[in-house]
Amino acid sequence: MKKDYLRMVDLDLAGSRVMIREDFNVPVEQGRISSDARIRAAVPTIQHAREQGAAVILLSHLGRPSEGEFDHHFSLQPVADRLSDLMGRDVKLVSDWLSGVDVEPGQVVLCENVRFNAGEKSNDLELAKRMARLCDVFVMDAFGTAHRAQASTEGVARYASVACAGPLLDKELESLGRAMQDPQRPLLAIVGGAKVSGKLTVLDALLSKVDQLIIGGGIANTFIAAEGHEVGASLYEPGLIGQARQLLHQARSQGSYIPIPKDVCVAKSFSAEAEARVCDIDQVKHDELILDIGPLTRSEYAEIIWGAGTVIWNGPVGVFEFKHFSAGTRSVAEAVADSDCYSIAGGGDTLAAIDQFGVRDRISYISTGGGAFLEYVEGKQLPAVTVLIARAT
Ligand code: ADP
Ligand code: MG
Repeated sequence: MKKDYLRMVDLDLAGSRVMIREDFNVPVEQGRISSDARIRAAVPTIQHAREQGAAVILLSHLGRPSEGEFDHHFSLQPVADRLSDLMGRDVKLVSDWLSGVDVEPGQVVLCENVRFNAGEKSNDLELAKRMARLCDVFVMDAFGTAHRAQASTEGVARYASVACAGPLLDKELESLGRAMQDPQRPLLAIVGGAKVSGKLTVLDALLSKVDQLIIGGGIANTFIAAEGHEVGASLYEPGLIGQARQLLHQARSQGSYIPIPKDVCVAKSFSAEAEARVCDIDQVKHDELILDIGPLTRSEYAEIIWGAGTVIWNGPVGVFEFKHFSAGTRSVAEAVADSDCYSIAGGGDTLAAIDQFGVRDRISYISTGGGAFLEYVEGKQLPAVTVLIARAT
């Protein structure tokens, strides 16, 4: 991707109202943040703007609330609290912010979840203009949402007086660009997790870029079903079975193959207390859920990972948050860490797993993006970056 956009670090921000689109979409369980990696990553950008004498307004989404209404489950209050701790100063959460934000130079405020505003996801023009009016400089620093053209990512950048890239976004584009230009082969992608439909659509393009593909989590379940196996009550997308079959066929015809788990860990319910049963892939009962890969599959995946020159990893291969179903993701994390390959990992939950298994230091590059990371690797233009380039010329 061309990099002819303005960069925040090159601008004089003194006395300006600087609005930064952050990626504070962190995992929150019962009001507690289980991994604050994304918040920590954002702090240097915010500090830089503040020290330059800017009045700093932060934007982010959190989760997937129904648009147009407040829902305390998706409030950014825990993020404001954590940010205040990390920065050693009060970062106030502003709930009603579209009509105006009170903030002085040197201060930092966080606006409530952008997805509480109707029109955010559809990139409503009027909403984007209202956001743009709140600031002198718009800084896009949320690589994790750069693949979505929404009001707070792309729309606002069209109307703000100045629109530029923050250091985090710039560094991501720089590092990923370098890694993907001429990767050490074989290039292996591991795609797992729960956002099945979103991620299935990127596999198609990914398949033509990589030498090997391992699928895990809810995505694997759709492929397991596509192979004609019972997946019981597992998370999967019945409507995408045809597409999964197509991908399996495409992989075979290009000489690579997508390994389907040979064995799995199943449970009767989706809960941390559920008892785990290990079984062959053709022994899943109709009332069971596949929540992790089994020991045979763990070894097979580890072998593939050890043989790779470059590994791109997004998405856990099991419900690693539950102790009995964490072994698969632990084994993948350890294999990636132990392998001599160049490794790139991204995704909110993937990073949480990497921290949980203590392998962060042994991953070559940690990306803050999940879906955006995959789309970048796929070779797509990221709309929130494209607009910055357009604004700079
Ligand atoms: P990331 O945030 O890294 O992009 P996702 O958000 O797509 O990843 O998915 C992460 C979630 O997927 C985790 O919470 C994990 O528990 C869940 N998951 C993984 N495997 C399964 C499975 N077999 N069934 C249900 N959920 C799963
Ligand atoms: Mg996630």
